[in-house]
Amino acid sequence: MVQIYDVVIIGAGPAGLSAAIYASMADLEVIVIDKNCTAGGHIQSEQEVKDFPGFPSIEGGELASMLRDHAEFAGAKFIKDEILSIDSECPIKSIKSRRNEYSCRGLIIASGTIKQGDTIKASTAYINGVPDTDENGYVIAGEDCRSSVSNVYAAGSARTKSLNKIVTALSDGANAIHSFLEDIN
Ligand SMILES: Cc1cc2nc3c(=O)[nH]c(=O)nc-3n(C[C@H](O)[C@H](O)[C@H](O)COP(=O)(O)OP(=O)(O)OC[C@H]3O[C@@H](n4cnc5c(N)ncnc54)[C@H](O)[C@@H]3O)c2cc1C
Repeated sequence: MVQIYDVVIIGAGPAGLSAAIYASMADLEVIVIDKNCTAGGHIQSEQEVKDFPGFPSIEGGELASMLRDHAEFAGAKFIKDEILSIDSECPIKSIKSRRNEYSCRGLIIASGTIKQGDTIKASTAYINGVPDTDENGYVIAGEDCRSSVSNVYAAGSARTKSLNKIVTALSDGANAIHSFLEDIN
């Protein structure tokens, strides 16, 4: 029988890890799927982060490990896989990857950005079936992270926003789960 998760999170950067922590703490069954084996997204490769509140200087990799450890401690599960397409019109969302197919009630798109030459775009350009985006592939969503499709949320640098920072990505993860809990209750 196909397992239906409460929440599937695409991307294990700061936004996805924060969403995983908040989802797990709300006793939701959650998996985080990332195409790279190490969690942390962009911050993984940052030598030094100097603007993360409470830490005047911290290595990106160390911060990433702390976030992942917290998510695992809270109960989140991690899968290494690349998401290729989303079918989100029905209440049970279907997500196809290179190796599998996943089903869930709530979907968080936290797949971040990619650099193509001098242009930075949202990574959603490589995922079929994402909700409405702007011309650069950023999922159109406000601070509540709700996308144009019910129970699908965009968090972190994959969504339209004016300040792309670790703290705003973490905040999005919390907001996305808060919105999902409101929407299902
Ligand atoms: C060079 C550089 C330096 C920076 N320095 C700072 C700084 O000092 N302070 C600060 O606050 N911010 C900094 N930032 C910004 C910060 O890195 C971002 O705000 C933050 O990483 C956004 O987090 P995110 O979770 O939204 O996305 P990301 O960190 O980009 O994570 C997205 C994750 O999604 C995964 N993914 C993508 N597509 C798929 C798919 N199809 N299937 C499965 N997984 C997928 C990726 O592998 C990645 O792990 C910097 C950014 C860059 C590029």
